[in-house]
Amino acid sequence: MAIANVRMRDQLHDQSVRDPLTGLFNRRHMLETLRESINRSQQTGAPLNLIAVDVDHFKKRNDTHGHDAGDMVLRAVGAALEQGCGRDEVACRIGGEEFMLILPDNTSDDAITRAEQLRQAVEAVSVRYGEKSLPRITISVGVSHYPAHGTMPQDLMRAADDALYAAKDKGRNQVQVAGSGSDAQQISQLKKPVKAVGGKSTA
Ligand code: GH3
Ligand code: MG
Ligand code: MG
Repeated sequence: MAIANVRMRDQLHDQSVRDPLTGLFNRRHMLETLRESINRSQQTGAPLNLIAVDVDHFKKRNDTHGHDAGDMVLRAVGAALEQGCGRDEVACRIGGEEFMLILPDNTSDDAITRAEQLRQAVEAVSVRYGEKSLPRITISVGVSHYPAHGTMPQDLMRAADDALYAAKDKGRNQVQVAGSGSDAQQISQLKKPVKAVGGKSTA
């Protein structure tokens, strides 16, 4: 009886922090973790980065291949993001075709490189639906850094989202970094241009 109760409690806890479709953490857990991560960084000076991800032209995919195929794509994107996460990193589905990753202990440069690796990992995913392979999946990605782009969860999230929308504006399937030209990063090893929002190309 006691064991059954513990199992039930664990199950309920899991349901309250996980997104049922992808198994990733949900928005609520993301916010809680981000708050804790910011507190920790405030105390220790450890770096902290946020990566916002949105699947490109997802509505069109749903319209063309159906909602079930869309769900498979979301699961595949979730799995690729989770696989790309380290032990202390948290990948979340915050709603629809939107995801967010919290990366503690990465330098800003590392976080941008990681964002680009995630973009490439998703692009390499092949999803089979019935007899056919679905078209290649691409994502647009925005990166923000603590404390440069905010010291509150909402500010960091907004900065990552703004960078994500800049990535959409500039043609999708790319990574953009929040901030001005002075935050521009040199990432010469990347093939795709990575740009600071409002700044100049840094690739
Ligand atoms: P953009 O490249 O600008 O991001 O365009 P988009 O089509 O990806 O964005 P939009 O916001 O227009 O469409 C998102 C779609 O995601 C609309 C909604 O029906 C679909 N969607 C949201 N949640 C789910 C879900 O759980 N499963 C499926 N299959 N579709 C979902
Ligand atoms: Mg969206
Ligand atoms: Mg989208």
